[in-house]
Amino acid sequence: MKINDLPPLRTVLETNNLSPTKALGQNFLLDLNLTARIARSAEPLDGCHVIEVGPGPGGLTRALLQTDAQTLLVIEKDTRTAPIMDQLAQTDEGQAKAFRVAFEDALALDLLAEVSAPRAIIANLPYNVATPLLVGWLRDLWREAGAYRSLSLMFQREVVDRIVAQPGDKAYGRLAVLTSLTVASAERQFDVPAQAFTPPPKVTSAIVRLDARTDVPGPLTLFSQIERVTAAAFGQRRKMLRQSLKSLVPQTEAFLEKLEIPPTARAEERAPHDFRKIAEALSSALD
Ligand code: SAM
Repeated sequence: MKINDLPPLRTVLETNNLSPTKALGQNFLLDLNLTARIARSAEPLDGCHVIEVGPGPGGLTRALLQTDAQTLLVIEKDTRTAPIMDQLAQTDEGQAKAFRVAFEDALALDLLAEVSAPRAIIANLPYNVATPLLVGWLRDLWREAGAYRSLSLMFQREVVDRIVAQPGDKAYGRLAVLTSLTVASAERQFDVPAQAFTPPPKVTSAIVRLDARTDVPGPLTLFSQIERVTAAAFGQRRKMLRQSLKSLVPQTEAFLEKLEIPPTARAEERAPHDFRKIAEALSSALD
């Protein structure tokens, strides 16, 4: 059977009694034109081992099976989708792509061990775990050079604003700094209105595409240090750095002056590079 011969997604939901649950962040996309558009925005995928988190009824999965990706692994927490996944695995496209399903919590899975490179992640993420998933994948890019060639991810629009924000923007903070210090580029793709989902969430969604650098940005310990520094600096974003970094550095003013960062500066106006400089200096002070 071909993907295009499968029943409509609404029928798939009904026959499998897959009523969406809030606890699993289930807002499904049933419009195959839209899921095809999302898959297209992730191209080129030739030769890639693609990973989709949360296939649900499989709309985006169908589109991914029709790309020129080499293989497709989906990770789903909801075992009610098992018959739907079986049906996808039996299609011609599913067999050609060695389609695999892992019924696991994506937060607990080490994708670098599970899938070989080159990898790409494409997902309409469950909103309740979207940010920790992203931070984990950014961390992977410090563990292995180009661990993911690209990540095409759907979040609430506000989260995409926070990922692509520039210094001085209202949305600028920890997520923008971590992303910018990790990837080569972060580009907003397009918005998806709430009515496109079943059930519609309260907010607009958007897709962001991250493309990896070819090297690791630095040692993994530095990423952890940047996480600590940005948590402290943006935890009190309106305070001056000499105040917000007090808990991390004993002589905060002298420390910042040595790095040529004014102690009176505020986190929200400093470039990502400054947070890397602070984290590097902290790491070497601890050595
Ligand atoms: N991709 C489908 C679509 O676009 O219609 C479903 C997207 S829905 C927003 C999120 C999906 O992630 C759900 O199918 C949900 O069961 C699954 N999910 C939620 N938490 C998860 C987790 N921790 N690990 C893996 N899958 C999860």
